[in-house]
Amino acid sequence: MEIINFENDVELLSKDELGAALNLDKKEIRKNKKSVLVTMFLSKHSDEVSKRKMYKNYSSRFALHPTKVQELFNITSTERKRWTGERKLKVDHYDSFQKWGKTIEYPMYDAFELSKLSQETIELWREEHKTKVRENRKKASKKSVETMRKNQDIRREFYDSEWKKLLRQWFKTNSELGATFQLSFWTMWLSRWAKEFQSKACRARTKGNEYNQKKEQFYQLKNDALALLVLSPYTKLSFYCPPSPHKIFDLQFCSNHYELWCSLREFEYIPKWEFFEDYKNVISNCNDCTFSQVDHYYSLYYLSVESGEFPEFDFSFHTPYPIGEVFFPPKDTLNSVLHEEQEGMFRFGRTLFDDEKIIFTEKEVLKHFNEARQKYLLYFPTS
Ligand SMILES: [Zn+2]
Repeated sequence: MEIINFENDVELLSKDELGAALNLDKKEIRKNKKSVLVTMFLSKHSDEVSKRKMYKNYSSRFALHPTKVQELFNITSTERKRWTGERKLKVDHYDSFQKWGKTIEYPMYDAFELSKLSQETIELWREEHKTKVRENRKKASKKSVETMRKNQDIRREFYDSEWKKLLRQWFKTNSELGATFQLSFWTMWLSRWAKEFQSKACRARTKGNEYNQKKEQFYQLKNDALALLVLSPYTKLSFYCPPSPHKIFDLQFCSNHYELWCSLREFEYIPKWEFFEDYKNVISNCNDCTFSQVDHYYSLYYLSVESGEFPEFDFSFHTPYPIGEVFFPPKDTLNSVLHEEQEGMFRFGRTLFDDEKIIFTEKEVLKHFNEARQKYLLYFPTS
């Protein structure tokens, strides 16, 4: 492994540079061949101090390219970058090149300084790094154990104390109310987990199927619970029908109505759906216009749970009509609500916050939901 070779390297100096080092004037420099000047230089400046001086003065000329450094010391580019960052490999200067319109800089290494490095030193650095990685790993795993313990404490605090206090408070007032609130409470967390899995499924690159299955499972449990909750005197079920509740698709105008649309568009652009909305009655009654429709696709069932005794608790759940019509009473038997009537109604379900995930883990939610469901069935048996 030869990084520098003084006798060869001296050849890289120009005649003027050699002459200047030898204190020759211009005439003497011109008179002599370069090989002569090199020989003179070598005989006069071969001691360690002069060598160092030459490498220092012309360091950029001898600087080593990154790939060369990797080859010489048999190190990876990751190792080279790490030890460059730690200033263990001395950089002489930075060069750059253009790539895809960007200027990329790379270090050129000081050959003289690197020539003093031994393979043993490199091995020592490697060992040091391994030890550091091991220690960091230990620290990280210790920290994660601590976090787990801390989270366990937070969970225990909630389930052993706060949650029991809530239950006692509810059931002491009235056991039907207690059972209703208990089930509503866990249905709310179930619904948040369903939303969580839904949003995870949308973002997932590989586990999309798994999340979708979880989402389905949680929504199914939620719907089962809503079908039960409707039996309680503390719940109120209403129906919300938006201004255009039906889903229309495969819309085809007959030639007459198509022409009407065209003639209206001579004045301003009218989207197809807007034209349909404006002329809905005419088009619906036209024998030649065709479209398919899912009734009340955009309508909602709205289930709210509340009691005057606990105004701080109110639970509310939305269910799209096509899903709810399977297990809820017919919409015509229900109160209709208008958008303006209840502001709170449009607080739609949300995903979970990070700190909520500590207490309301998927496992705890399922466990407590099942308990709540069992308890509820004691008060509101279905058969
Ligand atoms: Zn028509």
